[in-house]
Amino acid sequence: MNFLFCPSTLCLLGQQKKFEISVWSMQKRLPLPIVHHPAYDAADLSDTHRFPMRKFRALAETLVADGLVSAKDGFHVPAPAPESWLALAHSRIYVDQVLNGTLPASVARDIGFPLDNAAAGRAVAFRGRCATAGTVLTATLALEHGLACNTAGGSHHARYEQGAGFCVFNDVAVAIRVLQADHRIGSALIIDLDVHQGDGTALMFADDDEITTVSMHAERNYPHPKAQSDMDVALPDAMEDAAYLARLRQMLETLPSRIQPDIVFYNAGVDPHADDRLGRLSLTDEGLRQRDALVLSHCMTHGWPVACVIGGGYSRDIEGLGRRHSIIHQVASEMWVNPALSSAG
Ligand SMILES: [Zn+2]
Repeated sequence: MNFLFCPSTLCLLGQQKKFEISVWSMQKRLPLPIVHHPAYDAADLSDTHRFPMRKFRALAETLVADGLVSAKDGFHVPAPAPESWLALAHSRIYVDQVLNGTLPASVARDIGFPLDNAAAGRAVAFRGRCATAGTVLTATLALEHGLACNTAGGSHHARYEQGAGFCVFNDVAVAIRVLQADHRIGSALIIDLDVHQGDGTALMFADDDEITTVSMHAERNYPHPKAQSDMDVALPDAMEDAAYLARLRQMLETLPSRIQPDIVFYNAGVDPHADDRLGRLSLTDEGLRQRDALVLSHCMTHGWPVACVIGGGYSRDIEGLGRRHSIIHQVASEMWVNPALSSAG
């Protein structure tokens, strides 16, 4: 597997023209920008752990095997996020605790990764820094090219003062704050279709009029209690493709017309799938594909750049899970190559 190394994500945050819809036709000969770092995978985490950490490598291998990432071009690889980026969205105390391995036991329990020794703590911190920087790089590439996908990200349970639910740093929140600090964006829309509510993200932007948070999730699933997003769509258990897609169309059509985001972050979690161990919905692979196509086509027809993150997905079948996570990259690549597909959604 080859990688296209970027010496620093910072180098991509210079003065660049804001995305214009005409860029689509000029970019279509280039491959869709896809971001990956080998450290997304956690070789130190047991295969019996509830979080299937080896899925990131499986996803990357699927993308190469399917030709979405060529041996020649490789992945875009982020440099680990510096502490200063993390502290734009999280409390300095929490960032220091993660990076120095001094998290209180109660917070480590809320996060859910083994942090009971120094090596495990360092691995979790490094992985969090890489995944977060990956979303910053994905967003930067989306602003430049109109569309880009990470192979991790969507840690939406992490809030200002601590992580939770397998989420260490809220990568989307950090990316928004980094891009705002660099004057690359003012506003952003977060469309979160992971089966769990994006409670950390909702809390972080609750008082921020520039950031619109939308979460469509299974009502009876974690977290309890829910936070309040700008728009929450709570779904009943066992909802299948047709009803889900109809509800999604309705949600997209009712987004307030005043929302004209400089960028969209799309959390394409695959845990609404019927076979997911932690989800409560009953979508199929085809349902997920149509879901992703609906979201991307809605954004593209409005001329909104989209940064995709993969969100949650839980299965013991790691190869199958990696393939399921690749659906968003497949759909994005198809629209990247043929933008006309976006108007068909
Ligand atoms: Zn989830």
